[in-house]
Amino acid sequence: MKESDMIDHRRLGRELELFVSDPLAGAGLPIWLPAGAAARHAVEEYVRDLERRAGYRHVYSPPLGKRELFELSGHLGHFADDMFPPMRLSADDEFVLRPALCPHHALVYRARGRSYRDLPLRVAEIGGMYRAERSGVLGGLSRVRAISLNDSHNFCALEQVGDEVREILRLIREAHAALGVRPAGFRLSLRGPGEKYVGDDAQWARAEELLRAALDGVDYHEGPGEAAFYGPKIDIQIADAAGRESTISTIQLDFDKPEKFDLSYTDADGGRKRPVMVHRSLVGSMERLFAYLIEVHAGAFPAWYAPVQLVLLPVDDGQAEAALDLARLAEAAGLRAEVDHAGSLGARIRDAARRKVPYVGVVGAREAADGSVSLRLRDGRGLDPMPAGDALRLIGAVVAARSAELLPPA
Ligand SMILES: [Zn+2]
Repeated sequence: MKESDMIDHRRLGRELELFVSDPLAGAGLPIWLPAGAAARHAVEEYVRDLERRAGYRHVYSPPLGKRELFELSGHLGHFADDMFPPMRLSADDEFVLRPALCPHHALVYRARGRSYRDLPLRVAEIGGMYRAERSGVLGGLSRVRAISLNDSHNFCALEQVGDEVREILRLIREAHAALGVRPAGFRLSLRGPGEKYVGDDAQWARAEELLRAALDGVDYHEGPGEAAFYGPKIDIQIADAAGRESTISTIQLDFDKPEKFDLSYTDADGGRKRPVMVHRSLVGSMERLFAYLIEVHAGAFPAWYAPVQLVLLPVDDGQAEAALDLARLAEAAGLRAEVDHAGSLGARIRDAARRKVPYVGVVGAREAADGSVSLRLRDGRGLDPMPAGDALRLIGAVVAARSAELLPPA
């Protein structure tokens, strides 16, 4: 495999100043620089908004918890090899960095009594978690030790699971379209041989049947041995520049944790019932998502999550004030804008192109005098000078539509 392809997102991440990996901070612990953080912030806001409109309730929970919590969840019994070792504060006080958010979200469910009217209860968070990956496999953003997962746990009555899984598949498709994710395939991940699985055969069979029904009409393949330790799942795969597949989106059925955490709800007839827990992620971890997005867009993100959306270039010092005023107007309109004064106009245009900025606004003497701007698009097209307000509305419309194009539809 070509090494240049394999390191693509790392190289672009460096060139575009999106993130840095510093050996002093530790392998697999990248730091997001302002440009990368701006793009990630836009994506996180989009994901939360999509979820909010689909009936999700967002929470915050700490990435650290007592050892007993992860003994109860089964993570220490089944997943300890992938976790950092516990930290001991005193003889009876040990903490672990969590390898998953499910235990905390089970406690959100348990925070008060639940009735059938509360279901499906969708507890969502972009939350931190940790994996003790060996240093040899770490690289850039694709394999990391500190992970920010777009996660949710949807607690459902058994008869709601089919509709819930289909609705999650719809949300996944919507998020992929907005971000420019092109899946390589759908996988139904099933149990394999071995002792690492919990739950009885009847639960596994029922969960598998529900997922197969939800996948009706979808082209998928089966992945024996790819299930979670607590249940089967639907995994949506992406391929990197080197053709290696990884999971970006997942839907997992779990009958086990509701038992372990003794979760229940009062049904319409007054009886106690156990909910089913659906673990799901629309776009996976922010790290792996951006490793993919950087490569698939070659760093030229759609305008709505471009780190800087508009760079303003005064032709000479006489227009510096006009360019600054326009940048302030753009920021007031919710856009990410900068003024670049340094160097020749040609060099500044080339620098904006190198940084993959979607819009460059040139402000010459004529534009400064009549309050207009000449827009140049990232793809090389140039527009006639237009009033500054029109230019900001044009960019704002593209951003609001989360379009992959740089001009609104004619
Ligand atoms: Zn989970």
